[in-house]
Amino acid sequence: MPVERTLSIIKPDATERNITGKIIDRFEEAGLRIVAQKKIKLSVQRAEKFYEVHRERPFFSDLVKFMSSGAIIVQVLEGENAILKNREVMGATNPEEAAEGTIRKDFAVSIEANSVHGSDGPETAVEEINFFFKEEEIVT
Ligand code: ADP
Ligand code: MG
Repeated sequence: MPVERTLSIIKPDATERNITGKIIDRFEEAGLRIVAQKKIKLSVQRAEKFYEVHRERPFFSDLVKFMSSGAIIVQVLEGENAILKNREVMGATNPEEAAEGTIRKDFAVSIEANSVHGSDGPETAVEEINFFFKEEEIVT
């Protein structure tokens, strides 16, 4: 299986509740390695840009408000099949539909405040990693 990189975000609802270590443990237990990480706060403008593809969705402005409301941890995760593996560990967008043992099932507050973001494919992974990190900030 190919070694891939994916962009992960631990969202404001999780940093606020001080459960980032519990979430990171799920990634590491699944064989994903943190090769870059920083704690930041997004401006409204940066959050709008990151979620540009959802601009026409009814939840866009609430999502931008939420994602810029507090600290987030952005990470590059690396491992075999990392993009799909991370999505599996995260669980479905709506925590009510997320499988047992997934991060969203165990930690999410709502469909919006669902604790984590993960890239959804190889192209978005590259775009999203480049949105937050320079190559020299990624250390394997
Ligand atoms: P995912 O994060 O699982 O890839 P999407 O890309 O569809 O899901 O949506 C991006 C984010 O927008 C979700 O993680 C969630 O925070 C928020 N979101 C998605 N759908 C809804 C909804 N119906 N109501 C409120 N917020 C939503
Ligand atoms: Mg998505």
